[in-house]
This record gives sequence, C-alpha cells and structure tokens, in this order.
Amino acid sequence: MQTRLVSRIVIVVLLGPPGAGKGTQGERLAQRFGIPKIATGDVFRTAVKEGTPLGLQAKQYMERGELVPDSVILGIMREALTSEDAAKGAILDGVVRTVPQAEGFSTMVADLCRKVDAVLLFEADEEELVRRLSERTTCDVCQTPYTGRDPGTPCPKHDGGTLVRRKDDEPDAIRTRLKVYREQTEPVVSWYEQHGMPIRRVDAIGPLDDVTQRAISVLNGTH
Ligand code: ADP
Ligand code: AMP
Repeated sequence: MQTRLVSRIVIVVLLGPPGAGKGTQGERLAQRFGIPKIATGDVFRTAVKEGTPLGLQAKQYMERGELVPDSVILGIMREALTSEDAAKGAILDGVVRTVPQAEGFSTMVADLCRKVDAVLLFEADEEELVRRLSERTTCDVCQTPYTGRDPGTPCPKHDGGTLVRRKDDEPDAIRTRLKVYREQTEPVVSWYEQHGMPIRRVDAIGPLDDVTQRAISVLNGTH
C-alpha cells in the first residue's frame, strides 16, 4: 500500500553509519511513497560485478572499506537525479558521505531546480552495527540485505540472485568503515544543520516495522 508523503517532500537523504538499516528502511520508504530508492553502494556493487570502468575504479576502495573519491560520486548523483524514475522524487541511501559531496549535491540539486526536502539520520550503537554487519548477507542481483540467511542460498525475491557476504562486511573493513563514517560522514550532519536543514533523527534499534513507523512519523512531522 502506498502512503502519500507530505506533498512537499520529494528528495529524502538517508544518513547513518554502516549497518544502521538505511538500505532496509530506504526500500520500505520507497515502496510506501511510490518513489525509487537510489543507493550509490548498490550502483558501485553492480558496476564491480559487471566489470565496467566505474566498477574497476571503485572496487579497491570498497573492498578496503574506504570511500570512493568525491569526483566519481557527483556524476552518479546527477545521473540518478535526472533519471525518469526519479521524476517525482527519490530516497537517497548513502549518497552523501562527505562535506564536499554535501556541498556539490546541494549545488547540483539547485541547478536542477529541486531541493533536498528531508534528511533522516538513522542511529544505532556501534556494538549493534558490528553485530548486524557480521551477520549480513546480500543478494548479488537486487542488493537486498538479509539477516539470518546463509551465503550461497537463493535470494528470497526469486530474482535469480544468490546471497553473498560482502567483502567489506569482514572485520577489518567494518572497523575501517566505522572510522571513515565518524571522520568523514558525521560532519555532514552538522553541515546540513548549519545550512538550515534540520536533521530528523530516527532510533534505528528495534523491530523493522517500528523503525519504519518512526521514519514515516518524522517525515510527516508527526513525531
Ligand atoms: P545499511 O544500509 O545502513 O548499511 P542495512 O539496511 O544493510 O544497513 O542493514 C544492515 C543489516 O542489519 C542487514 O543485515 C539488515 O537485515 C539488518 N537490520 C536492518 N535493520 C535492522 C533492525 N532494525 N534490527 C535488526 N537488524 C536489522
Ligand atoms: P554501502 O552499500 O552504502 O555500504 O556502500 C558501500 C561502499 O560503496 C562504501 O563503503 C564506499 O566504498 C562506496 N560508496 C557508496 N556511496 C558512496 C559515496 N557517496 N561516497 C563515497 N563512497 C561511496
């Protein structure tokens, strides 16, 4: 069932550490509001799998748990925002991860006569994040993340995909990603606040339906 999002909300930026549930909740919000979820991580993983030039460029950074350089991201953002799919809006998962990306994205959105309407920050403690990422399997076709399903088993969505363990969900890369988040992505939260964009915080701990409901409530301003 689709829920009408407050009409002025069209571009929603999801922030939060790795494992907070951005992919999981982003998919649910996208379905609920009838707009696509766009995740740069998914774009890169597909490119790596297909061995495209973008994939070759991104692979080494991703496997180490580091960020792909900002210069690569802006082109992907533009393509995503100008796609027909995103005409009515989009839920952007992990698309903005550094202050230069936030600046570049903001300029680009203004150039396209659009605006970021809401920034959601999913929050969970580090122990929970490490636990989730250590157990996560991901479909190598649709990129849906799962818990409690073994690698090598078919994707429950029957899309021909197989569940795999991401290389960056191994302990060393998890540590790097959490450090990268603290050092490079957390400052994006203050950047948005300083630029007049309130951050809507969502407690990301608890049953999936509860987290979704909290996200919808803060988006609709009823929280
Ligand atoms: P992110 O996109 O922020 O990295 P994911 O959506 O991939 O996070 O979620 C990370 C892992 O945690 C996945 O295996 C997912 O199934 C699981 N997960 C997501 N939300 C919750 C939750 N509320 N409680 C427990 N596990 C969750
Ligand atoms: P994710 O699927 O969101 O966990 O992203 C996986 C990896 O893709 C990250 O660890 C980065 O290497 C890369 N990535 C995804 N989005 C970005 C971004 N906006 N900026 C830089 N790197 C990114």
